[in-house]
Amino acid sequence: MSPHQHDLLAQVPDRLFIGGQWREASDGARLDVRDPATGEVLRTIASATVEDGKAALDAACDAGPAWEATPARVRSEILRKAFEIVTARAEDFALLMTLEMGKPLHEARGEVAYGAEFLRWFAEEAPRVSGRYGANPEGTGRMIVTQHPVGPCYLITPWNFPLAMATRKIAPALAAGCTAVIKPAELTPLTTLLLASVFEEAGLPDGVLNVLTTHHSGAMSEPIVRDPRLRKLSFTGSTQVGIRLLEQAASGVLRTSMELGGNAPFVVFDDADLDKAVDGAIAAKFRNIGQACTAANRFIVHRSIAEEFARRVTERVTGMKVGAGTEEGVAIGPLIDDRAVAKASELVADAVGRGAQLRVGGRAIDGPGTFFEPTVVSDVAAGSEILREEIFGPVLAIVPFDSEEEAVSIANDTEYGLVSYVYTESLSRGQRMIEQLATGMMGLNVGVVSNAAAPFGGWKMSGLGREGGAEGIHEYLQTKYTLTPDP
Ligand code: NAD
Repeated sequence: MSPHQHDLLAQVPDRLFIGGQWREASDGARLDVRDPATGEVLRTIASATVEDGKAALDAACDAGPAWEATPARVRSEILRKAFEIVTARAEDFALLMTLEMGKPLHEARGEVAYGAEFLRWFAEEAPRVSGRYGANPEGTGRMIVTQHPVGPCYLITPWNFPLAMATRKIAPALAAGCTAVIKPAELTPLTTLLLASVFEEAGLPDGVLNVLTTHHSGAMSEPIVRDPRLRKLSFTGSTQVGIRLLEQAASGVLRTSMELGGNAPFVVFDDADLDKAVDGAIAAKFRNIGQACTAANRFIVHRSIAEEFARRVTERVTGMKVGAGTEEGVAIGPLIDDRAVAKASELVADAVGRGAQLRVGGRAIDGPGTFFEPTVVSDVAAGSEILREEIFGPVLAIVPFDSEEEAVSIANDTEYGLVSYVYTESLSRGQRMIEQLATGMMGLNVGVVSNAAAPFGGWKMSGLGREGGAEGIHEYLQTKYTLTPDP
């Protein structure tokens, strides 16, 4: 580890953040955070207990009334200040994410810009929350509609975008006037701890934001989710864990937002601009080492151009440099852990066993670190596991199709519905795809769609609710309608 990396890690708080205090876990337990590129321990931090979870919720509840009563402009300015600090410390946040999660440094810089944008966007949305006033249709009274913060929120984030997933939840919650407890993934908690110190510096009152890091995610979370004082649960992660949390949330009729898994189709029609489609495919597949819920999972390509498409993407993938994200020129960093490597290996083996052609890659790379070769498989047969499962790795799988109807049918043949990508130069075909593909988001001749100003979220088993855009703050607001007599 370089002296610079060592200094940065030393600046990251190593304790729980509860009620404005940095505290050890109640039983003194700690957890190791490792670099997936080397296996090396980066930092050892506090690991919260059930008791700490209760203390964090107590702090959020205590801070609630004052924060709700704080003028929106003041809340907005704290978020804006946090945006400015994160932006000024962009290099620190980028390096920290590369170290704990593995993504190439240039991608981590991109995530800092994207993640910081939620702070700015919701700083701007906070003063715009408003209501309605008007006569009822009978003309006998006045209807007043007002918006109120839902109350204390529990926010759970995954490891793949450590900064953006945190700001995408914290910023709208705080902007709406809610207080929050956030629990980052145990694999990548350092970014959230550094972010909490930014909020401290920005002047956020004690208890408005609390951070719990733990390796007992399930056991520590359940009492929080079932606590009647909690009013909102926002989760990003796997569909499997999301379903379990929804069951727990049902007992308190909690408001929930669920950003879950995906299985994105990437459809290339024979009238597509192939150069653009190949560029889009590389971005949609290999960004974040394939570990994005929005990663293209199935490349559904018209049979007449499937060979040329496969040849071109294979050429691009063959030139990709694999290594630690901190190394210059690296395109493919490590996968997050051994399980992710095993899953990629199994999915490729299953596809090849069913007749797919392995064009490049396909193997795990010996350690240290958890690397998998960037891979292209073509002619993937229907029924292959790789078409059903979220790959979450650098594997590009191509399936040919013959007709537009067949492309739509393959694309929609999944329980997920987060995002789809379509490449066509035909406007009318593009319009038909907007209407026919069952996903919450679509990239039409674009390979990356995420934007803080847009409503991010999925259909079907990909989730509930939206993050970002004008919609994002409403996930943290509840509506009240009041009737008054005619004046
Ligand atoms: P995961 O479901 O294993 O974990 C997500 C978070 O939940 C982590 O903080 C984890 O510690 C916590 N967790 C795990 N079990 C829990 C439990 N029983 N109770 C409470 N919390 C628990 O997912 P992951 O592996 O961290 O992330 C990858 C998944 O996230 C993929 O399926 C991906 O598609 C999805 N994801 C979705 C989006 C989206 O916006 N739709 C964005 C990023 C990732």
